[in-house]
Amino acid sequence: MIQDGNTIPIPKGTCLLCGKTFSKEEMAKHLDGCRGRESPPPGKVKPRRETVLHIIVEGAELPQYWMHLEAPASATLEDLDELLRDVWLECCGHLSAFTIDDETYAVEEAMEAYDKNMDLALGQSLHPELTFQHEYDFGTMTELGLHVVSARERDIYTKDIRVLARNEPPDIKCEECGKPATQVCYVCIWDGKGWVCDRCTGKHSCKDEGFLPVLNSPRTGMCGYGSEWEEDDQEELREEDGDFDDDEDE
Ligand SMILES: [Zn+2]
Ligand SMILES: [Zn+2]
Ligand SMILES: [Zn+2]
Ligand SMILES: [Zn+2]
Repeated sequence: MIQDGNTIPIPKGTCLLCGKTFSKEEMAKHLDGCRGRESPPPGKVKPRRETVLHIIVEGAELPQYWMHLEAPASATLEDLDELLRDVWLECCGHLSAFTIDDETYAVEEAMEAYDKNMDLALGQSLHPELTFQHEYDFGTMTELGLHVVSARERDIYTKDIRVLARNEPPDIKCEECGKPATQVCYVCIWDGKGWVCDRCTGKHSCKDEGFLPVLNSPRTGMCGYGSEWEEDDQEELREEDGDFDDDEDE
């Protein structure tokens, strides 16, 4: 769900390795080179040589939201689900599932309905050029499309899935004054409307209005998304977590 007729231009994204901005089309090529130039994190000792998957993920009907991930082949579908929840999706612990080659891999809590769970290594379930889907919340659903760009051996310093690049916030304007929208009416969003800035919430004409924050996520305006969240949590990149050296602490 986004403004009228889904006419918002697809924003550029930021490479989180070098901080530079590139268009959605340019980013995969840039990351190829940029990852090659990446220096090891300070103070860390041994890298691990492992196959890593380069995965692009975007909103299934909202291509304005996109990111590039680097995932060790030993990471599981559950790890990938967790990352998607952390960065984009989590509002109140809804069920979720991946669909890969017509098979559904669901979170443990949904196992009554599905045969397969997410406890499967990415190296066993994904391969280059594969396109697959993720669904979060089987009621007010947010659907994501994922695409595996490549699988290569690399030296890695963390077993975590990393966000390599991410879209800048889409340019969504307040319907009343034209400034950047910061809130969206959770009723009108279903018609692609209801975007306002903080000062204009009073001018929104809808009777039952309730607003949710506009966040850089395809789940903006859905269920209670962002209503109890610090926006900073969204930006957290989890870079510090999961270094091999910290294994004992987990
Ligand atoms: Zn870069
Ligand atoms: Zn929810
Ligand atoms: Zn306004
Ligand atoms: Zn409304």
